[in-house]
Parts: sequence; structure tokens; C-alpha cells
Amino acid sequence: MEILCKKYHILTYGCQMNIHESEKIAGILESMGYVYSESENDADVIVFNTCCIRENAEQKAEGNIGALKQLKKKNKNLIIAVCGCMTQQKGKADALIKKFPFIDIVFGTHNLENFKSLLILKSAQKKAVISVLDKEGEIIEGTPKKRTSFPNAWVNINYGCNNFCTYCIVPYVRGRERSRKAEDIVNECRQLIKDGYKEITLLGQNVNSYGKDLNKEDFSDLLEQVASIDGKFRLRFMTNHPKDLSPKLIETIKNNPKICHSIHLPVQSGSDRILKLMNRHYTREDYFNKVEMLKNGISDIAITTDVMVGFPTEDEGDFNDTFDLMKKVGFSGAFIFIYSKREGTPAAKMDGQVDEKIATERIMKLLEFQNEFNRNQSLKYVGKTIEILCEGYDEKKGKYLGRDEYGRMAYFDGEKDDIGKFIDVKIISSGGISLFGEKV
Ligand code: SF4
Repeated sequence: MEILCKKYHILTYGCQMNIHESEKIAGILESMGYVYSESENDADVIVFNTCCIRENAEQKAEGNIGALKQLKKKNKNLIIAVCGCMTQQKGKADALIKKFPFIDIVFGTHNLENFKSLLILKSAQKKAVISVLDKEGEIIEGTPKKRTSFPNAWVNINYGCNNFCTYCIVPYVRGRERSRKAEDIVNECRQLIKDGYKEITLLGQNVNSYGKDLNKEDFSDLLEQVASIDGKFRLRFMTNHPKDLSPKLIETIKNNPKICHSIHLPVQSGSDRILKLMNRHYTREDYFNKVEMLKNGISDIAITTDVMVGFPTEDEGDFNDTFDLMKKVGFSGAFIFIYSKREGTPAAKMDGQVDEKIATERIMKLLEFQNEFNRNQSLKYVGKTIEILCEGYDEKKGKYLGRDEYGRMAYFDGEKDDIGKFIDVKIISSGGISLFGEKV
């Protein structure tokens, strides 16, 4: 006899933080007996895990929620839930219900762990359940997770942010910084290694602030503790604020072979005037000093960054400062964005919003430069043998793929058994940012 299980589908928007939170939502649903469905068409529960960091992510989510109206008409028992940082914005939960009256549950980032009780509550009442807390509560441990990126695993170490960069909505929707206890983090990591995971990425809006609220271990101490877990694995972390990058952290990376020699250090702008308006708490010179400190401490360090163009009042001189900084540092990767106006942030009220056409021209220049830089970097790999961690199979390329410790992606002819293993790959050719090679 076929046993019919209830199915769920999750749509995730935005950053790694959200992807990992969707793993928790999936874990909660599976602990209730739901099974994952590839398609929303036959799901009994559909969850939209939204993002509001950029306007287009928010628009995309709303467009997709709107498209579900027909599905809800066909299946009256379908539960549609919306969560994530978009719902934490002031008045947004009510506005969503008004715009899409077929939504059943809206919950925020501070009470994701309560999703099970919200589902139970919804089954007992007709009207929509709205549960968005405007203040963060205790950190709740033990939420089940359905991890989706073996052999890599994501582990939250702290939540929220105290920095209040003027363009950023995160402190308003994710609250103040709260750190998990080191013991809980280390235990989670130890279990992951036991379960066969080979790469752990410690996650936080600003990992360097870890522990400031606990007055015990700082971030370097935590890294050291995780790196001392037995077994062969890689340890990464993101994201860092340049102002908090310390000599102690550089020493810790240098002295622990399990910690990858790669760091994401968002610069945002190369102009002192714009950095001040952004409330970033460092100057261009400070940033160069941190880069020098990193390169002097760890000669093979790969530095990646985030760059924003079109911040209010950014003129040609400011943009050229950013361009110049990128050329001087030589980032091994850069996420380059056009400033996105977020209501409720100080930058949204600033005069001098930059014309979209000008911002687009600026981003194109930076992208062109960075792509060329990446191409040249990739060429230097040809003929070399690198150790990659095989992550999976790329259907389109018909090849297995994995990254080296610096985050560079390599494709090769392998086999299913390679997934989750460290493999030496000799690089034969390169294409853009990607490398192609063969197992040695
Ligand atoms: S450091 Fe700045 S950009 Fe990063 S999350 Fe905090 S406020 Fe946002």
C-alpha cells in the first residue's frame, strides 16, 4: 500500500544566511513527517524565505507569491507561509496579507524555530497567523536541520549586527548581535565532522564580533577550538568587517592548517568621503593597511570583497577611487552591486541619489576589470595540481566539480564516489573564473 506523505517546497531568496535558515525550516518540516517536493505544484506547504537586502530580491519574492494564487484556488488545503527578513520590516506582514489574502502564515527572523507551533495554530484557525517579533529573543539551540550542501556545512555563530552601515537594513530586520555559546558551536561542528562533512563555514553578519556579548571566547579563540577537532576538513568563515580584522585573527589563520587561506573582506567603496557617509568606520588607508597585514602574515591569502557603486552623491572622483583600490588590491573575487535604496535606512533619505544609467556604466567598468583579472588569475593555474574538495556533478558541463582552499572552482571527469573527497586535480585549461583539469 502506498503511504502518502505530506510534501513541502521552499523557495529561498538572498544570502547564505537565508539558505541555512531554509535548512532549519526543512528540518522542522521533516521532523513533522513532511517530505521535500521538487515542485510547488504538488506541495502541501510552500514556504517563501525572503530577503530585503536589495529591492529586486523583494520584488522577485512578491512576484512569485502572487503567482501562487491559482495553486491555492485548486488546493484549498495548501498552506503558504512567508518568512525571512522581508517580513521583519515595519508594517510589512500586514501589507503582505492585504496584498495576498491567500497567505496563511507570516513569521519573522526572530522566531523561525517556532514554525512548527505556527503550523499547528494555523490548522486550528481560519484566519492567517502573523507572528513577527520586533525584538530578538533567546538563541534557541537544537532546531533540526536538513542540510542540503554536503560535503559543505554552514554553522551560525552569531546573529544580527550592531554596525548600522547607512545603506543596510540588516540591523533593523535581524536585530542586535547575539553570539551562540562556543560549546554549542563546537559540538555542532564535531557532529558534522563525525557525519562525514569535509568543510565547515562559520556564518555571521560580522563574524569578527563573535563573543563580544559573551565576554568569553573571541572569534579567534572559537576558530582555534573548531580547528582542533580531529579529522581532515576545511574551515571557512564569513562575513568580516574590515574594522574588526585583528592581528590575532591573522595569526590564528596562519597557525591552523585547517583554516582556509581565503577571506571575504567587504570594502564597499574606495572613497573616504563615501566610506564616511556609509558609516563604515574605516578609511581607504585603513583598508590598505589591513590588506597589507593579511598579505604579510599569510603570503598566499586570497581576498574577496563586496563593492557598491552608485551610493548617494558618489561622483566620478569617488568612483575612480574605488576602481583604483580594486586595481591595487587585486581581489581574487568581487561581488559588485549597484546601491539599492532601502526604505528605513539613513541612506534612503540622503540627497544626491545617483542616476541609474551612470551607476550601470560604473558597474560595467568594474565588472569588465574584475572579469579580466579573474581570467588572468585562472591562466596562472594551468599546469598546476591543486587539491579540491569534490562537491558534486554539474549537469550542464557533464563534469564533477570542487573548490580549492582559495575558493577557486575546478571541473574534472570523475565519479560519484568522488563527492565528499579531497582530490588532486591537474589543471589543463581555464575558462573565465573556472578551471578544467584531470584527476592525478
Ligand atoms: S556590517 Fe554593515 S553591511 Fe554588514 S550587516 Fe552590518 S550593517 Fe549591514
